Amino acid sequence: MSDIQLYDVVILGSGPGGIQAAIHASRKKARTLMLGRLANSSLYWAHIENYCCMFQVTGEEILRTGREQAENFGAQFMDQDVLKVEKKGKLFELSTEGGDCITTKTLIIATGTTRNKLGIPGEKDLLGKGVSYCVDCDAGFFRNETVVVVGNQSAAAGGAMALTEYASTVHLVCDELDVAQSLRKRIAASDIIVHEGRKATEIIGENAVEGISLDNGERIESTGIFIELGAKGVLELASSLGILLDENMRYVEVDRKLRTNVEGVYAAGDITGPPLQMAKAVGEGCVAGTEAATYAKKLKID
Ligand SMILES: Cc1cc2nc3c(=O)[nH]c(=O)nc-3n(C[C@H](O)[C@H](O)[C@H](O)COP(=O)(O)OP(=O)(O)OC[C@H]3O[C@@H](n4cnc5c(N)ncnc54)[C@H](O)[C@@H]3O)c2cc1C
Repeated sequence: MSDIQLYDVVILGSGPGGIQAAIHASRKKARTLMLGRLANSSLYWAHIENYCCMFQVTGEEILRTGREQAENFGAQFMDQDVLKVEKKGKLFELSTEGGDCITTKTLIIATGTTRNKLGIPGEKDLLGKGVSYCVDCDAGFFRNETVVVVGNQSAAAGGAMALTEYASTVHLVCDELDVAQSLRKRIAASDIIVHEGRKATEIIGENAVEGISLDNGERIESTGIFIELGAKGVLELASSLGILLDENMRYVEVDRKLRTNVEGVYAAGDITGPPLQMAKAVGEGCVAGTEAATYAKKLKID
């Protein structure tokens, strides 16, 4: 095997988790490669208000600066997705969509999650124009406005409760509210208008959200629609290595050093579970990058 192709640390994902891992690994002089696309990061289209020491900055700006920073410390980037990962003895072999084959001593999985979608007209076109998948991130943009939360479970119900601190009126649209009794009581005691047994059929608006239509023909006038249907991880690659997932099979299990159950494989960011926030992704990226670099330096290959 040519030494030039062998990396100490390969990171799957170029969101904030992956970028921070690349910064810490490369500063420890580990040969580091990061894969994935900035524009596929959840952060790319976001406006960030709740990340320490940064205020009203775009996700795209953060990602571009972070990538440049990591490159300055020697990390390499490849704008490609990985299609296959295999364990070969103590090493890992990766195949990319461009046909490249990469060998590495350690792997950091930072592939994020995909928010579950409603799949109704208007949802895609009005994303970032009133449609949001994250109450924690965007509640502050809807102070004194009317908002609608769509979803059946605690993420939606808890999100609706949180929004009552910001919005003037909060509607909750759900097929069937599937939450603990205590949360149901809090919803009942609040001013939230619950539309139980209803499905959303269309999000209305030209350049910004104006409202939402329900399956009984009702239309709710609103400037914000929060879709809180949970998230699914990009877990196929993790599963192919035999990495343990949580009991709901949604997130990768890690310990405090961000190690998975497979030696040499770490995970960071949204893929390890909530809160699905940049601050957590960055913190985990720091730990995973440092730990993976340290492990790689000590690894003896026959
Ligand atoms: C609309 C919106 C607004 C948000 N606003 C905020 C906010 O205000 N504050 C906040 O803290 N958080 C916010 N978030 C959440 C935040 O974006 C995420 O928590 C954060 O981006 C997670 O980082 P990550 O590195 O784990 O994953 P991501 O940023 O999602 O990055 C995943 C990376 O993995 C790559 N990838 C996927 N599959 C592969 C593969 N097979 N091979 C190689 N690479 C792959 C992708 O290309 C991408 O680069 C928001 C999210 C959304 C969707």
